Order: sequence, then structure tokens, then C-alpha cells
Amino acid sequence: MNTTSNPTFSIVAPVYNEEQILPTFYQRVVNVMTGLEEPFELILVNDGCHDTSPEIMRQLHEQDPRVKVLNFSRNFGHQIAITAGIDHARGQAVVIIDSDLQDPPEVIPQMIDRWREGYQVVYAIRSERAGETWFKKTTASLFYRLIARITSINLPVDTGDFRLMDRRVVDAMVQIREYHRFMRGLSVWVGFKQTGVPYKREARAAGTTKYPFRKMLRFAFDGITSFSYLPLQLATYMGFIVAGLSVLFILVAMGLRLSGIEAFKGQATTLVSVLFMGGVQLIFLGIIGEYLGRIYNEVKHRPLYLVAESLGFDTSEREP
Ligand code: UDP
Ligand code: MG
Repeated sequence: MNTTSNPTFSIVAPVYNEEQILPTFYQRVVNVMTGLEEPFELILVNDGCHDTSPEIMRQLHEQDPRVKVLNFSRNFGHQIAITAGIDHARGQAVVIIDSDLQDPPEVIPQMIDRWREGYQVVYAIRSERAGETWFKKTTASLFYRLIARITSINLPVDTGDFRLMDRRVVDAMVQIREYHRFMRGLSVWVGFKQTGVPYKREARAAGTTKYPFRKMLRFAFDGITSFSYLPLQLATYMGFIVAGLSVLFILVAMGLRLSGIEAFKGQATTLVSVLFMGGVQLIFLGIIGEYLGRIYNEVKHRPLYLVAESLGFDTSEREP
């Protein structure tokens, strides 16, 4: 049996314009994985790169058949790239890792140890983050605490997509075909025995982040809307509060008028309250829109990604 088609471990890495890092990334992964002396595959997902990364990936595949490459027809996004990687992974344990070396491959053996102890999901917890802006660290920290509070899933704080998943978990994940996917949440949602290992998140080895603020915000909203209705329910709570206050206000205004006190007269009060309620309503309309747009994308049932070319996968394997 060809060991590359039946590996023990699959390493899945999404790649978007990482030409400066790829050779080092490959070297560090191989150094760590060969130390384990079990067959492995490294699946690189080319998420529509427009630098020389695809050529580098092709070369890596040609010199080392353990490297397999999925070339997307265009950029589909980080979470979708991870999905394609785990769809095609054949290992008994699958590790998701960023290709920018922020997630050190040297942590993988510790994850594998925990997996051998019987854990089916081993996530890496960022005990420290190097080389990231104050803004990114603060917003990330707030986001993970918020999502832990408002959703029903127990998302461990300060974890990313860097994690190991057992074959059974991967098979469960592969069945989830939703379009707006928050992979780190879904891998908790599936259940199974989970644990974490701490690590120090490094600075990017080279290049710049592919997550500008807008994308980060959209990603955060995907995470919240995937697992919580709270933003929608807030409108109900707000409605009760405002309606209650207005009844109180009617009574106060009547009392004042009856006792002859001249108060709350003029346009300013009216204008302020109309503008305030108009604003609140527009905000909630926007929130409904966020959910509605996501529902629309889900019902369209478009394929999650399109592979233009794949290198190193069995031709007998069909696209999922
Ligand atoms: N990435 C991707 N597609 C994208 C954006 C990013 O495949 O549209 C990859 C990128 O190459 C990297 C990982 O996803 O390996 C994480 O992205 P990045 O490092 O830019 O995010 P950050 O660590 O800054 O949050
Ligand atoms: Mg990164």
C-alpha cells in the first residue's frame, strides 16, 4: 500500500500569497513530522494565490509526493480553504495549521500525544501572541469572551483554527456543508472528547496579514450568527424597555400638564425621540439583514469551492 495515500497524519494548510514563507514552512513541518516516524501527508490549499506560491507548491509536490496541492479556481477564503483541506485529508488525525508560521509546527507532537491519550479534538491555546498589534489582540480577546458568553457552544477562549482532529471528528465536520462557516466553533459543536495545549503564537514569518479589518469584522459576525440569536432577540428586549418607558413618560407628561407645569414643549424633544427611535430601528433592520443575507447564501446551495487542479490525490477520489 502506498503510504502517501494512507497516511496516519494529515497536515492541512491554507495558503494565500505566502511565497516568502512556504519553503521554510514546508521544511519545518517536514522536520517535525519525520521525527514521528509515521506516514503523513501535507495538504496545501492554494486559495487563489496571485504570487508565485502556486509554482512553489508544485515544486514541493514534485520533489516530495507527501505534499499534495489543491488549486482553487479563485480566492474562496480561509475557512473554505480549510474545509477543502479536511475534505481531502485521509489521515487518522488531521491537523489544521496556518501557513504563515504563526502556528509553530513544533507544537504538533504535543497535540499527537494528547490524541494518543484518547482525546479526539486537541486545540492549541494561544498563551501569548507575539508581533500582533494592540488593536488585534484587544479586539480578539473581547470577541472570544463575548462569543463564549452569548452562544450555547463552549468555545475555549484564545483558540484559533490550529488544532488536531480525530478521523471521527473530521468525518462529522465533512458532513457540515454550511456556507458561512466558523470552523473553530463547529469543531467544538460536534462534541467528542476535547482538550487544549498552550503555545506561544509567533509573529508572522514574512508578508502581511490577509485579514484586514473588514474581513475580520465579517468573520466575527459569521461566528456570532452561526451560533447565537441574541442580536435578533435584543430587538425584543429593547422594544419592551422603550415601550415601558414611554408609558411612564405619558403618565408623567399628563401629570405635569394637569398641574399646570409647562414642560416638554417644542420641537427639540420630538426631534430627538424620532431620531433616536429611527436610529435604533435602522440598527435592528441591519442586524436582521445580516441574518437574512446569510440565510440567502445558504439556500442558494452553491458549491463551497471549486478546484481548478489537484496534485497528488488519488484520481479514484471524487470531489465531495
Ligand atoms: N488565508 C487563506 N485565504 C484567505 C486569507 C488567508 O487561505 O483569503 C490563509 C493565509 O495564507 C494564512 C491563514 O489563512 O495561512 C491565516 O491568514 P492570516 O495569517 O492572514 O490571518 P491572521 O493570522 O493575520 O489572522
Ligand atoms: Mg497569520
